[in-house]
Amino acid sequence: MPILKHTHQLERIGKRPRHINEGMWRCWHPDCTFKIPAAEVEGKRSQCGCGNDFIIDSGAKQRKRPKCINCRGTKEGKQHRRIVDILEEVLEVSE
Ligand SMILES: [Zn+2]
Ligand SMILES: [Zn+2]
Repeated sequence: MPILKHTHQLERIGKRPRHINEGMWRCWHPDCTFKIPAAEVEGKRSQCGCGNDFIIDSGAKQRKRPKCINCRGTKEGKQHRRIVDILEEVLEVSE
């Protein structure tokens, strides 16, 4: 019997395969038995641990359990934090 409609929470099953398109992915929702071949997981909607929906892209797929853009340590995010650090330093010095 299908469970309530939900956004699948996709993760890779087992160890990291030799090739990213090998193996299977599944939904880790306790009542869901959804499985999908790794080759087809890109472009699918998934739900992050934080509750946000997102589309799995080639970058997200590298992780066992992909995260949404807000939870990923993106280049832009790191750069932003660095700028904040520098600003805080400058402010401390000027006080
Ligand atoms: Zn599911
Ligand atoms: Zn998230």
